[in-house]
Amino acid sequence: MDFFTFLKDSLSDGRQVLRQGEIDQRQLPPELLERLDTKNAVTNVHRLVPFSVLIFLIEILNQVVIFTADVSPAVHEAYLAAGGFMMMLMAVVVVLAYQFLTASMVDRRHCKCLYRAFWWLFTINMLVFVCLEIVTRNLTNNYFYLLILTAAFPLLSRREAFWLFGLDAVVTITVAVFHGFTPQQLLQLPLIALFALILSRVLYNAHRGNDITLGLLEASNQKLSALARTDPLTGLLNRRGIQEALGETLAQKGDGCGVVFLMVDIDLFKSYNDRFGHNQGDVCLQTVANTLRRCVRGSADLAARIGGEEFLMALIDCPAVEVLPAAERLRQAVLNLGLEAATGAVNRCVTVSVGTASAKTPIDFVTLYNQADKALYRAKNSGRNCVVLGNGIDCNPT
Ligand code: GH3
Ligand code: MG
Ligand code: MG
Repeated sequence: MDFFTFLKDSLSDGRQVLRQGEIDQRQLPPELLERLDTKNAVTNVHRLVPFSVLIFLIEILNQVVIFTADVSPAVHEAYLAAGGFMMMLMAVVVVLAYQFLTASMVDRRHCKCLYRAFWWLFTINMLVFVCLEIVTRNLTNNYFYLLILTAAFPLLSRREAFWLFGLDAVVTITVAVFHGFTPQQLLQLPLIALFALILSRVLYNAHRGNDITLGLLEASNQKLSALARTDPLTGLLNRRGIQEALGETLAQKGDGCGVVFLMVDIDLFKSYNDRFGHNQGDVCLQTVANTLRRCVRGSADLAARIGGEEFLMALIDCPAVEVLPAAERLRQAVLNLGLEAATGAVNRCVTVSVGTASAKTPIDFVTLYNQADKALYRAKNSGRNCVVLGNGIDCNPT
């Protein structure tokens, strides 16, 4: 395979990888993509540090060779050595600062600026070096490894790679043209830049591809765990969902936070099903669920369907005096729907009975649940369509 065929194949492979990566990327939620980008940037920094050291050592070796060979004026060489050293030092300082900022999670925009600053400094350093080599020693071989190393290492985005390598190619070609290089030598320059660019893109996409695959996996895991916590009929949380979500919420709140459980059960729902059929029963469940969801106030409050026609609301930071009004609001909201009930129902309308239980964190889910369930039982025995507080105070509808 000749060099041009190799280049053509690499270019088309690279393009395919890139396109696939972009298609996959669209399936990821933006917040996940953002997280992957941060992770990507941190990984780059970790790779940059040893790479800078390596380049620094190569540069020193190069300077040693230049000095021993004594092919150019000493002042010029000293400038080269000092300049290269300074640039490398600056680059390492930038990288360390970037690493520090990333670790301390300071504004990501600053991190990105530093990351770019590093690559611009690095490329300009390389360019100065390459141009001086061309002008002072008529050398074409030094920038081979420099360009390729520059290309091989960083996992730059497409736009950044385009600008950096474009700059590399334009400047080196211009200098070489003015310096009177042969057409053959000139052809080498764009080819090397192109090869470096392809290499950079293939590495970038291989790296990004892994991230995207991981991201897709993570996204589907998130979907699965959301499904496992959701009741498919009503879209509310299920029992597992409310237990887990409550655990997470209360862990953030700390001890001493007031928690209220409202256990809600549709009255005589079996008769409703018998009269209107199960499909209509499902519609009724969905309507009641939507109403309950609307009645839950506060971003931390939770609503779940925990059984056939039983719902559990968890009110967080709810003061004792608010428990009865909150439960009454629920009962009234369902009554106000005015859904026709089965014959013999309490109110000719679909109604609910509510039992409550209150506690302060740390709570035991099962104990509070049982207390609310017992209160609900009492509400049923008190004639339904009413609220019974867990502490025993009943509230019958007027
Ligand atoms: P009570 O007032 O004492 O609560 O009486 P009830 O008839 O509501 O209580 P019971 O527990 O006897 O009946 C509950 C009914 O809920 C029985 C079942 O057919 C119905 N059910 C449970 N899950 C579903 C469901 O997913 N869809 C429908 N349509 N009905 C359901
Ligand atoms: Mg019922
Ligand atoms: Mg029931």
